[in-house]
Amino acid sequence: MLSPGAILILVIAVFLGAPYTPLDSNTLFVTQKFGETSRVAKNLLLVTAHPDDEAMFFAPTLLALTRKPEVNVFHLCLSDGNADGLGSVRKAELGVSVELLGIPKQKSWVINHPQLKDNITAEWDSAVIARAVKPYVTELKIDTVLTFDTRGISGHPNHISILEGVKTLIQNINATTPNEPLPRLFSLFSAPLATKYISLTSVVMGKLDLYIYFALRKLEDLVIFVISYQDPTILAPLIPRHEEMGASPVFISGYEGYLTSLSAMTAHASQMVWFRWLYVGFSRYMWANAWDEVHF
Ligand SMILES: [Zn+2]
Repeated sequence: MLSPGAILILVIAVFLGAPYTPLDSNTLFVTQKFGETSRVAKNLLLVTAHPDDEAMFFAPTLLALTRKPEVNVFHLCLSDGNADGLGSVRKAELGVSVELLGIPKQKSWVINHPQLKDNITAEWDSAVIARAVKPYVTELKIDTVLTFDTRGISGHPNHISILEGVKTLIQNINATTPNEPLPRLFSLFSAPLATKYISLTSVVMGKLDLYIYFALRKLEDLVIFVISYQDPTILAPLIPRHEEMGASPVFISGYEGYLTSLSAMTAHASQMVWFRWLYVGFSRYMWANAWDEVHF
């Protein structure tokens, strides 16, 4: 029987050891419908609302993606964050932040549209967002769009508006080019408040979750192998299943990734008021991102 002191040391060791390395699943945002070949992100666009969103919420994903040479990552920020008259300062800060997160400045743009102003009480119009984002999606041949979900992580109405705007855009593309494969849309999961500021606990829980998933996957492969032993074709699908098929895109940073995210956040010096320091200390989004595909 372990003593309370030994249990405490074990728990601390697990918490401090968990972020030693990063861990992720389905980093290429693979999806595959029954009877169809898999789709994999090649040209990916992250759409955010304000300079600092990319570092505050999306850093674990960006850091993992920019280690994948087969994916082209682009970033579009829909406002310059000028609510306090600091638009030009914030734009310059964004340039430093995206480079730290592995996106060259030339692949990150800020839209300064009169109807997409940084405003904590304003919802942005879906049609305006769709029109503003469209040239980037079509000219860059974007196949995968990433953005906020319907709760926008922080509940900011500008964040929340983007999902509907991008959906409008993709539906519109569908109407004009019905035979082309549509860009796929993924949204970042907004955690409930109770589990939003859990810092390293998000790493421990996220990794445990992934290890259980990987183990179940191995078990499934074993069962298929045993059943197919006599007749290898019995369970073989017509079109082979991509090995990442079924796994949710999840990205968990290690210490190195966290420190890079912290540098990107502090590059937004104009935004580093006291509560942002609490945020970088405790938010799960400094460590982990989980994504859901948005279906139409
Ligand atoms: Zn924001």
